[in-house]
Amino acid sequence: MQQFKIMDTKNYSLDTQLIHAGVEPDPTTGAIMTPIYQTSTYVQEAPGVHKGYEYARTQNPTRTALQNALAAIEKGSYGLSFGSGLAATDAIMKLLNPGDEVIATNDLYGGTYRIFTKVFERYGIKFQFVGMSDAGSIESLLTEKTKMIWIETPTNPLLNIIDIAACAEIAERHNILLVVDNTFASPYLQNPLTLGADIVVHSATKYLGGHSDVVHGAIILNDEALHEQLKFIQNSCGAVPGPHDCWLVLRGIKTLHVRMQRHCENGEKVAHFLRNHPKVEKVYWIGFEDHPNHDIARKQMRGFGGMISFVLKGDSLEDAMKVLSGTKLFALAESLGGVESLIGHPASMTHGAIPREERIKNGLADSLIRLSVGIEDANDLIEDLRQAIG
Ligand SMILES: *Cc1c(COP(=O)(O)O)cnc(C)c1O
Repeated sequence: MQQFKIMDTKNYSLDTQLIHAGVEPDPTTGAIMTPIYQTSTYVQEAPGVHKGYEYARTQNPTRTALQNALAAIEKGSYGLSFGSGLAATDAIMKLLNPGDEVIATNDLYGGTYRIFTKVFERYGIKFQFVGMSDAGSIESLLTEKTKMIWIETPTNPLLNIIDIAACAEIAERHNILLVVDNTFASPYLQNPLTLGADIVVHSATKYLGGHSDVVHGAIILNDEALHEQLKFIQNSCGAVPGPHDCWLVLRGIKTLHVRMQRHCENGEKVAHFLRNHPKVEKVYWIGFEDHPNHDIARKQMRGFGGMISFVLKGDSLEDAMKVLSGTKLFALAESLGGVESLIGHPASMTHGAIPREERIKNGLADSLIRLSVGIEDANDLIEDLRQAIG
């Protein structure tokens, strides 16, 4: 069997890379789509003589194709795939040792907060959760034990924006790692590695997969030594995705640009509709010019996406519940980033793992509603919200 040839797509634009980054047609059959290599092991000609594939926890050709594609579209040198976004987060945290400290943004995905506080604190890693709308405020919190800054931007669900380049400058000056969870923006809207981040992590379950049919995680980075360590952890701890899941993400990636364009267009229309609605108190959307960090969003992103949160006038949980169960197109569900629109209640769903006190302190109201605006017709979506808000 010939080896896979990896197409060099560096000189193409992102729209082309999304379709072609990864592998050439399958060398045995010419299949244009990367096959799903549903195998656990590979036959060797003699002990140790093989085609680069020994055992499927360590390597699988479908996964290799995806990892190469992820690296290319996120402008990195290396990609690594995991069974979920949190499995990728888990692998990154295993770079640390007991006693090490992490400074993380306070408006984090609930599951990330949970793995940090309920799992890794038990292993002696310390976390500080702080608002980072002003990146300069991080500096005073650093100690000689700080090894990592962990940010999500835009944040979930309050759509705060953190200045990636400013964080990268601080991280570099103190010789610590900057990790960016780029799930909300996707590589189509933002590439943290080009802004100086060391590691990008994705829940590919969301925009990368894009069809709400797979749970998957990814890490992308440039540093060779760090890649070797993470690859070692991927293989040693074994939170690897199956080949079918890798294939679904590969297929999802091919339409990321067209989907994201529509998510951005629909997001803008829905955000303005909500902002003009008499029953709506506040709308969180990064495209508004009066968003506190709109200028930074404009600087580091190529669009504003389809994630919107809002609070009704009166901040009543009861009214919010009526909207949450009153939409017909927006399905009440956790998750985001799929082609279909979703509505959710962070306080009881995605962010249920964060103690109420902590949530309220960070500005996440009990009545906050979060939308993942899909790629349906914008007018249909607006009418659906109109009838649900009443
Ligand atoms: C969903 C999500 C995760 C976790 O990813 P899973 O694939 O569900 O494990 C991490 N970060 C963000 C921002 C997310 O939305």
